[in-house]
Amino acid sequence: MSIEVLPLDADKRGECPQEFSFGAVFSDHMFRQVFDKGVGWHDAQIVPYQALQLDPSAAVLHYSQEIFEGLKAYRREDGKINLFRPEANCRRFNRSAARMVMPEVEESLHLEALKKLVKLDAAWVPSKDGSSLYIRPAMIATSSKLGLGASSQYTHFIITGPSGAYFAGGFNPIAVYITDEYRRAVAGGVGEAKTGGNYAASLMASEKVAELGYSQVLWLDSIHGQYIEEVGAMNICFVYEGKKIVTPALSGSILPGITRDSILKLAPTLGYEVSEERMDVNQVVADIESGKITEVFGCGTAAVISPVGKLCFMQKDYVVNNNESGPVSKHLYDQLTGIQYGKIEDPFGWIT
Ligand code: PMP
Repeated sequence: MSIEVLPLDADKRGECPQEFSFGAVFSDHMFRQVFDKGVGWHDAQIVPYQALQLDPSAAVLHYSQEIFEGLKAYRREDGKINLFRPEANCRRFNRSAARMVMPEVEESLHLEALKKLVKLDAAWVPSKDGSSLYIRPAMIATSSKLGLGASSQYTHFIITGPSGAYFAGGFNPIAVYITDEYRRAVAGGVGEAKTGGNYAASLMASEKVAELGYSQVLWLDSIHGQYIEEVGAMNICFVYEGKKIVTPALSGSILPGITRDSILKLAPTLGYEVSEERMDVNQVVADIESGKITEVFGCGTAAVISPVGKLCFMQKDYVVNNNESGPVSKHLYDQLTGIQYGKIEDPFGWIT
């Protein structure tokens, strides 16, 4: 199947504004295709950014059968544009689809759609330091029926929009709150799928910790309430004695982050030891107190690396590295963003 392109007239095309906040401004075009049971995917098109038409009984609006993704396009110094690990991102999209009983998309078509869309809206890829074009693929269940069951119709779409530098105010550490009260995802549930319900379920805890002055929630496992899982929209890593990077092993309820995976592959080439382990929160806070843990950082597409300077657990704050960003976080940040922006050679084949 090929993608039909119905572009805006050239004189109607927009350009990336000078100022924008994340996820609030969208580029000129979008990709969309539809699925009907018995027919498969059809009508793949790139069209001007526009509203979707949905019946109020559409399954997604009631039972949240939906998935999404997030990746970025980066403007290089030579003006060309890099996509970072789009294949890995598409594979995670399809794993989420399978978990949510949704049809998978053809990887080659999805990748072609990404590339065509970014090329057509290249004027929307910002060049300001640290900025990028955020790409949001999604799939929703569109059958008009209230009976609970997998939908027989779906829409797959991709929208994009400029995203500013995450660390406009410097590479400053954030404060996280380890919640003992709420759980993000349960064993056997959908925590490892990128589906909206996981994020809706996290909002109350996020609001409560924000009131206490913490910017992110750190989630514990649902069975024991003892093992560290991940942060709001990031995986979490702990640096032992400045040389060993430990991150919670994937448990089924943790989102398998592409940044996390990239760090596990990149860090050993920079001389660090890496390990995926079941991490007991009590041991972790003891290791912060004793100084064995020298840095903590979150990792994800949005910030790449986000140093953590303070963790609150059971009403007590544990401060890491004097609440300052550390050398390992900065080293990994510089190397990964170097690859993403084409300033450092990519030995991994991550760049398209
Ligand atoms: N965990 C969650 C819950 C997330 O939403 C994200 C962002 N996609 C991540 C981890 C980090 O994943 P990635 O590195 O692929 O952005």
